Amino acid sequence: MLVVMQAHATEEQVRAVCQKIESLGYRAHAMPGATRTAIGITGNQGEVEQGTLDDMPGVQEVIRVSKPYKLVSRDVKEENTVIRFAGTPATIGGKNLAIIAGPCAIENRDQAFAVAEAVAGAGAQFFRGGAYKPRTSPYSFQGMGEAGLQIMAEIRDRFGLKIITEAIDNESLELVDQYADVIQIGARNMQNFSLLKRAGRARKPVLLKRGMSATLEEFFMAAEYIMSEGNYNVVLCERGVRTFADHTRNTLDLSIVPAVQRLSHLPIVVDPSHGTGKRNKVTPLSRASVAVGADGLIVEVHNQPDKALSDGMQSLYPEQFVDLMAQVRQIAAVVGREIVPIAAQDRAAYKAPEPAPAR
Ligand code: PEP
Ligand code: MN
Repeated sequence: MLVVMQAHATEEQVRAVCQKIESLGYRAHAMPGATRTAIGITGNQGEVEQGTLDDMPGVQEVIRVSKPYKLVSRDVKEENTVIRFAGTPATIGGKNLAIIAGPCAIENRDQAFAVAEAVAGAGAQFFRGGAYKPRTSPYSFQGMGEAGLQIMAEIRDRFGLKIITEAIDNESLELVDQYADVIQIGARNMQNFSLLKRAGRARKPVLLKRGMSATLEEFFMAAEYIMSEGNYNVVLCERGVRTFADHTRNTLDLSIVPAVQRLSHLPIVVDPSHGTGKRNKVTPLSRASVAVGADGLIVEVHNQPDKALSDGMQSLYPEQFVDLMAQVRQIAAVVGREIVPIAAQDRAAYKAPEPAPAR
């Protein structure tokens, strides 16, 4: 159910409707919009009786939301969600294109700093790096844990980059929520409902990766789990799905970008690194992602990809990332997007490495 408030409804009236909803044992989600506030009602005890709210002061109408996902839907919030961060004009969603780059995993301080310096110099605003790695084999590198988070916190201080890193369980989520600017939930955990609920109670925005075989509706329902707990800052991420094709690690499903944007107000970014698994396909698919209207990119970059402890094959060399940025800037301009620097004074301090010939 959705309560649409009148355009001139007062804050007091919105609050009274929310209180009424909560007193009935449901949860109220007030979503202010450009012209009016809507209040989403969630709960798993059936629907609120329509007449209960209809006549309250400031209420315009009470609508049934027939879709299984509610808070994710444009029915509840028409305008695109734009996620803002303190101290930077860079956003996720809106006109700005969010550029998230960094190694698959934080391996040590020198590696992380070398990559951070390179990606900041090339114009990324967000730094990615795994401290907790969900690996297929228990014998593969599992990440540095909290020590990795500490390195990323230093990177934020040094370069001004905002930090995105994955939480794989409730315990790591607690720490990631403390250290990072955005909490990543990985493809393998997209339907880990208790983790999603915990992320919904976190203070930081959540980047939710699409499960390897998730439908659009399952993807939305995973985001709904997070939002139903009160965290409305969710970024969706397409990272490729499993298909019969074996020329790439996964098949990047770019058609999900307009499909998401039609039905949801949430931003969607694309990960062409996991989406292809092959370094030489990352730049072409980054161009395509921006052209199709993605709100940003998440790209793996390593200073020594041949020695990387995870995902070296799909990690770009720093010079290749510089080249990717140059190409993506051109496409961004065509589709009316821009890449704002993380902070003008930080950018001025860098000298980007020279672009290298294609490998
Ligand atoms: C990652 O971003 O390094 C990662 C493990 O991604 P995914 O969950 O998409 O496989
Ligand atoms: Mn990876």
